[in-house]
Amino acid sequence: MGAQNSQPFAIPDQEEIMTETGFSQASVLRLYQRFQALDKDEKGYLSKDDLEGIGELAVNPIGDRIINVFFQDGRETTDFRTFARVLAHFRPVEGPVSSESVNSRLSKLKFAFQLYDQDKDGKISRAEMLQVLRMMIGIQVTDEQLECITDRTVQEADKDGDNAISFEEFAKSVEKLNIEQKMSLRILK
Ligand code: CA
Ligand code: CA
Repeated sequence: MGAQNSQPFAIPDQEEIMTETGFSQASVLRLYQRFQALDKDEKGYLSKDDLEGIGELAVNPIGDRIINVFFQDGRETTDFRTFARVLAHFRPVEGPVSSESVNSRLSKLKFAFQLYDQDKDGKISRAEMLQVLRMMIGIQVTDEQLECITDRTVQEADKDGDNAISFEEFAKSVEKLNIEQKMSLRILK
């Protein structure tokens, strides 16, 4: 089945997905075509291997962690609705966004935070920060430099002195960054 034959009405849960994600009908259709292209054996859902076919995630230093978000709660596959919902966090922001929207700043921050907080205790520990920094800048610096950068990053963000970064501290520390623009993927444009 080629892209030409994909009719919008054939997309499962299309209305719900549009409401949940804020994607337009055209965007949902485009994502669905992408989903189908990744779903090589046409089972209607994607495995981790399938998602590794997204070039932008394959080259992203924390791409594996992003891919894991599609497979929470021990699931081994992701259906189209989950696929669209996760990708909605990367939808570029155009114009005013309601705070409940999946691509609001708060929602994007929560998404980013969980990529760090792998044990889900609500805090980024020093060790968790080190892991992410190693993935992002690892090969360009020595272990010693990496330890220093980690200490500095944690200290700068850690306001209550527990040597970990809470969500509030995280949000505060990236206050000046343009998260809305940074967290967007070309695949959605
Ligand atoms: Ca943690
Ligand atoms: Ca803290």
